[in-house]
Amino acid sequence: MRCGEFRDAVAAWVDGEAGGEPVGMGHLAGCAGCAEWVEGLRRLRSLTEAAPGPSEEWERGLLARLGVVPGPGGGEGYSSGVH
Ligand SMILES: [Zn+2]
Repeated sequence: MRCGEFRDAVAAWVDGEAGGEPVGMGHLAGCAGCAEWVEGLRRLRSLTEAAPGPSEEWERGLLARLGVVPGPGGGEGYSSGVH
């Protein structure tokens, strides 16, 4: 297995796209570069898990500001009437 394939598999696993253990973990034994990469990924992961993520409300507010969804309590948006 090549480094790129291995990292793709691990990244998918970390993102929860794949269940169980990531494939090709044996690659780590023979590849210091990927071992280091996984270690960094784990550290990053623990940091993001420890930090409180943005709330659902915050996310909705952001989407509303971006015009993706109507804002809370608003919903007027653009006036379609041309007088
Ligand atoms: Zn590798």
